[in-house]
Amino acid sequence: MSHHEAWRPTLPPGFRWPDGIRAAACFTFDLDAESGILFEHPEAAAWLDVMSHQAYGPRTAVPRILRLLDRQGIRASFFIPGFSAERWPDAVRSIRDAGHEIAHHGYQHEGSRSAADAATEEAWLLRGLEALDTAAGVRPVGYRAPNWELSYRLPAILAKHGFLYDSGLMDADHPYRLATSPEPGATSIVELPAHWSLDDWEPYNYLPGITGSGVIASPADVIARWTLELEALVEEGGLFMLTNHPFVTGRASRAAGLERLIARAREIEGLWIATAAEIAAHVAGLDLVPVVHDPVVRDPVVRESPPVPR
Ligand SMILES: [Zn+2]
Repeated sequence: MSHHEAWRPTLPPGFRWPDGIRAAACFTFDLDAESGILFEHPEAAAWLDVMSHQAYGPRTAVPRILRLLDRQGIRASFFIPGFSAERWPDAVRSIRDAGHEIAHHGYQHEGSRSAADAATEEAWLLRGLEALDTAAGVRPVGYRAPNWELSYRLPAILAKHGFLYDSGLMDADHPYRLATSPEPGATSIVELPAHWSLDDWEPYNYLPGITGSGVIASPADVIARWTLELEALVEEGGLFMLTNHPFVTGRASRAAGLERLIARAREIEGLWIATAAEIAAHVAGLDLVPVVHDPVVRDPVVRESPPVPR
């Protein structure tokens, strides 16, 4: 190795993709339906217009998305809040029966920041598991925090309950092994990183008074942006983790754009298109040193200081 090579972008020590693979792509769908809106805005339960907007996901978009995934011959991962599973069990079963992965996405789409303590977080996790079991007899191995709000304590709770992976931290381009605490010998799980730029909510979603600016992006622009990221991550040997929501991306032209992106991904030689669980299982078999996230400590004096006028 020349002395130039140490700074070159490279995969972490011990990391490799399966033989013949140079990068991976994972297409995921968070079946939030009404859950998240009701967690943030309980009053919306009485608003038919808003509830119908959310029902579009399981009612109209899931069948469309299942058709397009079938046409493309790929399997995807669906992260489903327990509340959605209770309200739309037929949609959950149709996803299961089409051969896709079903993973955990909270109960009422509650973020970790809303949990008073670890016991509350664990109770939500268990309630979500129970709902997926009741609706479809599924025991997920993966978890995605609603809003990607993950507390420092939640990875240990996931490990305790046998979860293989989490998806939603944002400090890497590739999967890694995540230590559940800074303590030596702590348990670890697999982390499949994601990012807001590969999420359909920000460019597309608009509900007056609830979310979005009202400026709705064109699928042509969004798909172009995602394609650039896909191609760049392939060159970096990373993981393209795309997060869509059926009620958002399941609209006709957005779904058509997504299908074009999947078709583009399928043309890339050496790109592994797989479910999150399949990718996590591969990573779990590697000999990786767990990444420790030490809690960030700020100097309280700095926090209390008034801002310096410019
Ligand atoms: Zn969600």
